[in-house]
Amino acid sequence: MAEFKRPTSREEYEQNFAQEYPLMNATEAYYESSRCLFCYDAPCINACPTSIDIPLFIKQINTGNVMGAAKTIYSANHLGNACGKVCPTEVLCEGACVYKHQNVKPIDIGRLQNFATQQAISENKKLFSTAANNGKKVAIIGAGPAGLSCACELRMLGYTVDIFEAKAQPSGLTLYGVAPYKITNEEALDEVSYLQKQFQFNIFYNKPIQNKADFDELEQNYAAIFIGVGLGKTRSLSIAGENLKNCFGAVEFIEKLRIDQHKVSIGEQVVVLGGGNTAMDAASESARLGAKNVTLAYRRSKAEKGAYAFEYDLAKKVGVKGLFNVSPLEILGNERDEVVGVKLIRTTVVEGRLQTIEGSEFVVNCDMVIKATGQSKRTSLLLQIADLKLDTKGKIMVNEAYQTGNSQYFAAGDAVNGGAEVVNAVADAKVAAVGIHHFLSK
Ligand code: SF4
Repeated sequence: MAEFKRPTSREEYEQNFAQEYPLMNATEAYYESSRCLFCYDAPCINACPTSIDIPLFIKQINTGNVMGAAKTIYSANHLGNACGKVCPTEVLCEGACVYKHQNVKPIDIGRLQNFATQQAISENKKLFSTAANNGKKVAIIGAGPAGLSCACELRMLGYTVDIFEAKAQPSGLTLYGVAPYKITNEEALDEVSYLQKQFQFNIFYNKPIQNKADFDELEQNYAAIFIGVGLGKTRSLSIAGENLKNCFGAVEFIEKLRIDQHKVSIGEQVVVLGGGNTAMDAASESARLGAKNVTLAYRRSKAEKGAYAFEYDLAKKVGVKGLFNVSPLEILGNERDEVVGVKLIRTTVVEGRLQTIEGSEFVVNCDMVIKATGQSKRTSLLLQIADLKLDTKGKIMVNEAYQTGNSQYFAAGDAVNGGAEVVNAVADAKVAAVGIHHFLSK
């Protein structure tokens, strides 16, 4: 079990949050690529939401054509470098690799992908050309993975693209929401700047689209509008004590960590509420920030947690303890409104339904609580768009071309799928861009 000293400088922060698997060197990439069997009808391609021709790019690396490999990757996935780092490859491409059937370590696809894309980025290699300007303008709301993917694709088709981003920097969750030991701020930003130089789309920062007048203006100035706004803040648990000092939403906590890094303060005893991947990230990050004890409290069993097994293992490796079948009743505070504990109650499943066990309440003492209990939808923002329909869960309803109920608007990413991987947003937004092209070519 790893133990972490509280980081007090950028160097210490980087040490605590070092990536598990650093970039491969040329020898490692050559060796690893030579293990690939270059399967016919390769299962790794089918498991990739962006259908990257994995055996082809691995072959290109193996034969010394690294820029060819980068082009193969980027032609399928405009965020090829970020996805190589943040994708759950263990359950996607690498999880499908034929070596898994023989209990042999699968090909390190994600890292090979980064070997090629990182080189293209650092050499600022121009791999694609954009079509001649077709005189049509498209607005994109949000410079996250969906918005960026849609922008690159539309620029290839000759559209002028303006992205309106509410925050001060691009990349969405890749910068603000992913654990820093998966991708650093520099890696996320370098890829966006590489794409921007190549595809020449505009990003207007600190420009939130937030009211009817903003939407009206976009509708007048642009032929089509793509919505890539993702999800909102951490959902409230509706229990007492949520407003105490040192009680945070996981999304807000991770965002603060990504921006303020070692300057973020952490409790000595931290309780993370939730059982999904974000909960695992928040718990792991708390431990790496130097918390002495980190407890993950989840209302269902270990087997039922939403997080991938490898994410839980990663958290356990840094000393996080799991507490299962418990539900929070109240966050307890002192006279200074600081968190001093969480009151939990044990749960059980009766006839398929989760129930609390009467009289089983107990308190876990702590000085910080992180709620990783899902994100709210951007319902009030989205309902300002005429004819745009949301489903009962607040997700934007779209057709197969990712066009919404209002034909001028298209949408993809978390605001449509309710919260999936970066790679899903990239893949779906690419289809949406083609949908926009068909719509505007009529
Ligand atoms: Fe190579 Fe594995 Fe894909 Fe086969 S399944 S092509 S061995 S990475």
